Amino acid sequence: MQVFEKLAEYRYEQLVFCHDKATGLRAVIAIHDTTLGPALGGCRMYPYASEDEAVVDVLRLARGMTYKAAASGLNLGGGKSVIIGDPERDKSEQLFRSFGRYLETLGGRYIVAEDVGTSTEDMENIRIETSHVVGVDVTHGGSGDPSPFTALGVLQGMKACAEEVFGSPTLGGRTVTVQGLGHVGWHLCEMLHREGAGLFVTDLREEVVERARREFGAKLEEPDEILSIPCDIFAPCALGAVVNDISLPGFRCSIIAGSANNILHEPRHGEALAESGILYAPDYVINAGGLINVADELEGYNEARATKRVSRIYDSMKSIIAISKRDGVPTHVAADTLALERIDAISSIERLHTGHPYGTERRRRETL
Ligand code: NAD
Repeated sequence: MQVFEKLAEYRYEQLVFCHDKATGLRAVIAIHDTTLGPALGGCRMYPYASEDEAVVDVLRLARGMTYKAAASGLNLGGGKSVIIGDPERDKSEQLFRSFGRYLETLGGRYIVAEDVGTSTEDMENIRIETSHVVGVDVTHGGSGDPSPFTALGVLQGMKACAEEVFGSPTLGGRTVTVQGLGHVGWHLCEMLHREGAGLFVTDLREEVVERARREFGAKLEEPDEILSIPCDIFAPCALGAVVNDISLPGFRCSIIAGSANNILHEPRHGEALAESGILYAPDYVINAGGLINVADELEGYNEARATKRVSRIYDSMKSIIAISKRDGVPTHVAADTLALERIDAISSIERLHTGHPYGTERRRRETL
């Protein structure tokens, strides 16, 4: 792989390889952009088949974090890390402490959090060696389970969409289809039920859908029929790529807003949604509640403040709708524009001080 070419393609700032023979650590840290603040992003532990695969993954994920933090109004940049290994077999205190020592050498340019394959316990081991870590145990100022905050952000995004489509943000009396009643989906159903929305739900686990019927009066649907249920809002909270060539013609909703990552199979599916009059709430913006919550640990975690910040996802979604209309682009493109405009605004302040032309060039680069 031509690493510098890869870095130049999307203006990555730094790629760090960490190796410790004694603990078996093989990790890669990618810092994409720190214009808004230090890069924050999870550490994924995965048995990558090759080093190239690990590098491609960490670069892609780090760049996504830049957009997510910027569009969420956080004063953070984008970064991510991967540890090459099997989370079931290869974890040890020594491994994560070794990784923590590498983070310490970066002096806070990158702040780690948990991700697929890592846990609060792992963050605690990292914390022994460095303070540049969030998602630690609540006894050490941790923010706890992110899922209720992710659900709250999705709810706020839905309200902004409802205001645009139905003329009112009120969800009472609206019908919402929720795919996946896991950590986020369940909290979302609770909130929607409290707001007075009617629910259609599905999950592969029968006991959880049955519980939703009892507790929320939800109507149960088969997993493979859920996408074409006539409803006001469809909330994918299980799988990615649910908007694809096969599902697209079947949607019978006015809004798609859920927590799942990578809801659009390809960007062109966002264009197709816009053409068919369905308002899409970009996933990485409305599912940022967990990130906003965990980032609050950096200031000494305060739940009320975190809740208030997560609720601003409503405003982010309104801004995206406004940009979408202003530029005549689908909302997934408008979300990237929102993020880039914020980064540009801050880097033009930097430019005033340093004469650096970075900001003006950035606008021309390809969006996510
Ligand atoms: P989870 O694993 O707790 O829940 C997923 C649920 O979906 C499970 O109940 C599972 O049985 C169900 N499911 C799986 N396949 C299904 C199918 N084909 N049809 C119907 N149901 C199916 O995950 P989660 O933490 O609730 O996250 C849900 C989604 O949101 C994921 O895509 C995740 O990446 C994303 N997300 C979560 C958070 C968070 O804070 N947890 C933050 C951002 C994004």
